[in-house]
Amino acid sequence: MIPRSLQRRQPAPWQTLLSQSITDVEVLWRSLDLPRSLLPQAYQAARQFRLRVPAGFVRRMRRGDPADPLLRQVLPLGEELVITPGYAGDPLQEQDAMPVPGLLHKYPGRVLLTLTGACAVNCRYCFRRHYPYSEANPAREHWPATLDYLARREQIHEVILSGGDPLTLTDTRLTGMVKDLSAIPHLTTLRLHSRVPVVLPERIDETLLAWISASRLQVVMVIHCNHANEIDASVVNAMQQLKLAGVTLLNQSVLLRGINNDAKSLCALSRRLLEAGVLPYYLHQLDPVQGAAHFAVDDTEAHSLIEKIRAQLPGYLVPRLVREIPGESAKTPL
Ligand SMILES: *Cc1c(COP(=O)(O)O)cnc(C)c1O
Ligand code: SF4
Repeated sequence: MIPRSLQRRQPAPWQTLLSQSITDVEVLWRSLDLPRSLLPQAYQAARQFRLRVPAGFVRRMRRGDPADPLLRQVLPLGEELVITPGYAGDPLQEQDAMPVPGLLHKYPGRVLLTLTGACAVNCRYCFRRHYPYSEANPAREHWPATLDYLARREQIHEVILSGGDPLTLTDTRLTGMVKDLSAIPHLTTLRLHSRVPVVLPERIDETLLAWISASRLQVVMVIHCNHANEIDASVVNAMQQLKLAGVTLLNQSVLLRGINNDAKSLCALSRRLLEAGVLPYYLHQLDPVQGAAHFAVDDTEAHSLIEKIRAQLPGYLVPRLVREIPGESAKTPL
């Protein structure tokens, strides 16, 4: 018999895959046969914000094509080093709405908890590129204060687990927190904001599905997918498992130049999401974060794209185009 203590040290298969993510620029270049001419800039950009991408996500990219829409989301490029006026370090000014460290209460009825700084993938357009988040969890020591804040406010019905990415946490950690949240009677809904089901679908394993199915809370998962090519058979399968566990599935995307800023790509994304059992929720205008200006799409073009896809798709497949404006009581529709 294997002693329990040893059994517990055995990482789940998804943890092994996560730890084997590609973080070395040279390895990415070799596995996709990319032009060597882009390498020096890539090294420079990766020094500011590290390359990180699971190997399974890289396998969905085209070899030898630096313009591949999945690759562009993770590829360190020289453009990131350009300083653009109006692009900030903390574009959302989130420090202002944080009554307890890691707890954001900006919108009525729901709070967002940033549980970890870790992600399974480093997206080049993300505001996270400016936070030297450690893997250590800042929310842990504030957990009692978090629970107290929630318990005292009956108008809060929904808790959103966010990050970084909450699904990089172990199920042991998550079940502990969810158990505490479930004990607060006025909470009805648990929402997970995660890119992990797309970039590392192996994370949707029996352990995760078991605690989700067993929870008294309504579980909503908002995945993050920007292009139809991200959804392969393994992602569809993970979505089916989540559906069977009773999860409501939504998607949020970011409108990104060179990745999905054309009507054909956006229509294909919505249709592919539906095939996977997921409805589009938000299409975000990029947060003006320094180093990501080359991804920006202006509002005129964004509007015209939404009008084009509205003319082709049923209403439920048209995402809401939004921008986050500091101080507003909800995401602002454009
Ligand atoms: C986006 C966000 C939410 C969720 O907003 P919904 O419109 O309900 O999806 C909640 N809190 C914060 C701080 C957010 O940024
Ligand atoms: S928070 Fe989301 S968008 Fe940002 S790096 Fe992590 S997975 Fe990507």
